[in-house]
Amino acid sequence: MSFTKQYKPFKTPVYCPITEETAFDYGEYLRTDHWQELREVTAFLSKYTCQKCGKKIKLSESNLHHLNYKNLGNECQDDVLFLCRECHKKIHGIGVEEKPKKKKKKKHRKPSKLTRLIHSLTPKQKQEAYKMLKERFG
Ligand SMILES: [Zn+2]
Ligand SMILES: [Zn+2]
Repeated sequence: MSFTKQYKPFKTPVYCPITEETAFDYGEYLRTDHWQELREVTAFLSKYTCQKCGKKIKLSESNLHHLNYKNLGNECQDDVLFLCRECHKKIHGIGVEEKPKKKKKKKHRKPSKLTRLIHSLTPKQKQEAYKMLKERFG
């Protein structure tokens, strides 16, 4: 028996022209480089701050929440929210009962080229990149 979450296949597969990836269901979509990059760009544009409670968070502690799915594969910043885990749970109405967490082995995803690039920028270059990304992603 598998405990992996099952997703219904999309009616139309989602295609990202930039990374040239096609996803056939939401689970697959969340594993694309496209989604990973969108998370990173959104994290950067929101200055690593939860857009609900204002807490500073690391990318690895964040959840990117879809406000709507109409631009799936080609989201702009109005379609997503950069959130800390607590705020994300609240949005989905998931109980806040804090069970002691079992230690899970974390699958560590290597930071993508984009993240490494962002981290290597000088503050001035970061400002430029911010402007550029803001234009690109709205
Ligand atoms: Zn928050
Ligand atoms: Zn969500």
